[in-house]
Amino acid sequence: MIYVLQHKKLRVQRPQHLKSLIPSKDLVFGRQFTDHMLNIQWSAENGWSDPLIQPYGKISLDPSAMVFHYSFECFEGLKAYKDKNGKIRLFRPDMNMKRFKKSAARISLPDFNGEELLECIKELIRLEERWIPVERGYSLYIRPTLIGTQESLGVNSTGRALLFVICSPVGPYYKTGFSAVRLLATTEYVRAWPGGTGDAKIGGNYAPCVKPQIDASKKGYHQNLWLFGENDELTEVGTMNCFVLLKNELGETELVTPPLDGSILAGVTRDSILSLARSWNEFKVSERKITMPEVVKAAEDGRLIEMFGSGTACIVSPIEGIYYRGQNLKVPLDPNDASSQAGPVTRRFADTLLGIQYGEIPHEWSIIL
Ligand code: PMP
Repeated sequence: MIYVLQHKKLRVQRPQHLKSLIPSKDLVFGRQFTDHMLNIQWSAENGWSDPLIQPYGKISLDPSAMVFHYSFECFEGLKAYKDKNGKIRLFRPDMNMKRFKKSAARISLPDFNGEELLECIKELIRLEERWIPVERGYSLYIRPTLIGTQESLGVNSTGRALLFVICSPVGPYYKTGFSAVRLLATTEYVRAWPGGTGDAKIGGNYAPCVKPQIDASKKGYHQNLWLFGENDELTEVGTMNCFVLLKNELGETELVTPPLDGSILAGVTRDSILSLARSWNEFKVSERKITMPEVVKAAEDGRLIEMFGSGTACIVSPIEGIYYRGQNLKVPLDPNDASSQAGPVTRRFADTLLGIQYGEIPHEWSIIL
């Protein structure tokens, strides 16, 4: 009998002692974890085990487990927020479930019912309620992870897998307001390419980007601007999607983000920004290729308006400069306020999304638990 993942089979094992909560000021991103974790096992013979919420703790795996050798690992990242009325909210978690399934499929990890998994995750979050900080900007970061655990050195699909979910209380990305970043347009390394795995959230995409990130940081830049191809197309910023607001050659104000061509992660924030921008209907919104020469030309002509990265961690990350092939390109921030660290459109996206996430702006994207 092959079992499917079922929320109604969820069992809970509680720890003997609960941990002490960490004062909000001492939170370091992704370093502190809650009391429980969700654990669901899969085998080719039996399918999915009954989901189990158990005390947070170490996982024991055989050294030959496939995850250690061939990177059979995919993951997600989403947040739970506490609103002013003390209600717990999630932001478009269905999108994370869909992307999780897609990432799993790309590396031959088993499929599962995303809605059932989400119900299990909601139970976990409810149990961890005391860990969700109430201050605005704070949240509980949720990390669903799926790994191949088959004990085998053969490069093949895995007959065993483990799906686990851990939670980490996190503070705001910007503790004291925005801080614009300087990017190194990376020409020496490529993050992803057509036909590759750039659109999958798999561990194998991330480790190779750390050396370029360290190199960039040693040169005084905050992030890599990942380019692709002979024309230096913009793809992503660090682990964020990339947006450019400019006046195009036709004189139209246009918000551009690279298209989902298989080499770019389909960010939930990216999709939300596109959707908001289209609903505002104040400027042209394009998912199209955009190259560094186009950005340089726009900057030289005074047509570059704002640039930012987008992602769950920061919502938006304003960009103030790019080092590109020997040239330091200045990206405008706010034309009306020289001391501002973000342009008005970047700010508006951040404020609107934050408002939705914390339930201050009613929206179907914000799900109450
Ligand atoms: N690109 C990459 C490579 C990422 O890791 C992330 C973070 N998940 C994003 C973009 C932004 O995605 P999201 O808006 O869903 O957080």
